[in-house]
Amino acid sequence: MDQKRAEVKKVAIIGAGIVGSAIARVLSRYENLEVHILERDADVGWGASKANSAIIHPGHEENPDEHPLRAKLCVEGNRLWHTWVKELDIPAKWPGELMIAFNDEELEITRHYLELGERNGVPGIRLVYDDELRSLEPNINPQAVGALWAPTAGQMAPWEAVIALIENAVENGAKLHTEAEVKRVVIENGKVKGVQTKEGLFEADIVINVAGIYADSISKSAGIDLEIHPRKGEYFLFEDDAFPKVTRVVHQTPTPLTKGVYVSTTIEGSLMLGPTAEDLPLEAKEETSTTKGGLDYVWEWASKLVAALPPKNRVMKTFAGLRPEPPDGNWVIEAYEKPWGFINVAGMRSPALTSAPAIAEYVAKELIEGKLGINLREKRNWNPNRPGIRKFRELNDEERDELIKRNPKYGNVVCMCKEVTEAEIIEAIERMQRIGIKTITLDGIKFRTLSMFGWCQGSFCRIRVARIVAEKLGIATWDVAMKSKEMSYGLGNVKTFFTHSEGDEVHGEGKL
Ligand SMILES: Cc1cc2nc3c(=O)[nH]c(=O)nc-3n(C[C@H](O)[C@H](O)[C@H](O)COP(=O)(O)OP(=O)(O)OC[C@H]3O[C@@H](n4cnc5c(N)ncnc54)[C@H](O)[C@@H]3O)c2cc1C
Repeated sequence: MDQKRAEVKKVAIIGAGIVGSAIARVLSRYENLEVHILERDADVGWGASKANSAIIHPGHEENPDEHPLRAKLCVEGNRLWHTWVKELDIPAKWPGELMIAFNDEELEITRHYLELGERNGVPGIRLVYDDELRSLEPNINPQAVGALWAPTAGQMAPWEAVIALIENAVENGAKLHTEAEVKRVVIENGKVKGVQTKEGLFEADIVINVAGIYADSISKSAGIDLEIHPRKGEYFLFEDDAFPKVTRVVHQTPTPLTKGVYVSTTIEGSLMLGPTAEDLPLEAKEETSTTKGGLDYVWEWASKLVAALPPKNRVMKTFAGLRPEPPDGNWVIEAYEKPWGFINVAGMRSPALTSAPAIAEYVAKELIEGKLGINLREKRNWNPNRPGIRKFRELNDEERDELIKRNPKYGNVVCMCKEVTEAEIIEAIERMQRIGIKTITLDGIKFRTLSMFGWCQGSFCRIRVARIVAEKLGIATWDVAMKSKEMSYGLGNVKTFFTHSEGDEVHGEGKL
């Protein structure tokens, strides 16, 4: 592909998961690209990027002989996230990771991963034993005989990362189109012409397929055969104040199917156990139920890894996510000769959350510039920074007083579990409107503020959040959308019919 096309401008990215959003952010850096993100859902980041282990892997589990690109981009992605989380104000921590061995056979496996880590250039990786292991993780099972210690492992809030990436891309000129499901890629004379949505043809010179679990049908419509099957992972998530927790990310020695069950303390401070790795039939692309068998497996493994777990009655919720699994485990990141302008970023199984920044740079440099021959010109005024919503719960008393003086809505705590204020809810709505989200949903507010995310899972605060949304949008409380405009709060919820959206007045029942 030696054809140079300095003036190709319009790019359609299909899918606003972590990978699509990272690509949007990187491409928004160039003045000769007009970047559009087309997302099927009402909001961004609701695919695999929402329900996963949220670990920024160090890169020692990727075999450079079998998956060289995965190995390279994982280590590079981990390195880049250190900068990106600061620029984008994404909550993250770097606790390091322990791969635990219980016998000589497992120690041998950890030695194998040590070797891979050294080949991949993972910083600081080494084996630890006895007192050092126990001082790194006091809650480790005393029967552990050693562990592979990888200090560069990190954790973040993956949904917040997607939101931050999109906000930053939009700030730099990209355009987000939600509720814009792509039906197929449209090709003319061997080149991409655009994509078909329910609203008609969306013209584009370059189409980047980052549609997660559905990337196979998009790819097929461009004439490139691909099969992506779902591999389910189930989890337990405990209440914030359920102890004991762990300081490090702790996990079993991996198997060929999975990196194994992890025990970690999430960025929000809850103990999390999981995942399983269950291959599902090709068509089971929405099957995110949890099962007794899966959860029992997770519990059994997690109990083996640590000295103690909190009691089961402190579990706040269970959930499952689907890995978009390519047939041979290899990511499909390619630009094609035919149709020219079509790029697959498909089969993005783990560690694609980790690798997303490096994948995005690879797409820009190796595929768009390298393979398609487009000379990318950087914007002079590209802004790498994006501030997050200021979280009331993280402030000290003085800072809180200061904020309340400036905006009394900070004085109204709406969600008691996570101490989220009315001002934060309103800011979330305004931010959603600013990036072009068409339907403001309660789920969108949940992922931006963590209201409805705590111990009560919204039983107490959902109605209060819904009222704030109703007032802000000038609609009835029962018309407020939950996940999509088809699923409104009032559907099947008798309480809302007794409630005015303007105030607290309730007919028929006591105050809600
Ligand atoms: C259980 C589990 C644990 C994991 N743990 C880790 C981990 O700890 N660390 C790590 O690095 N990785 C991990 N991963 C992998 C990681 O979550 C995924 O690799 C990553 O989220 C994939 O991102 P994506 O953007 O490619 O896909 P997605 O997040 O699925 O995004 C795809 C988007 O495309 C949209 N879409 C689909 N079809 C269409 C269409 N036709 N038109 C428009 N939009 C469409 C979807 O709505 C979705 O928003 C894990 C995955 C799972 C499931």
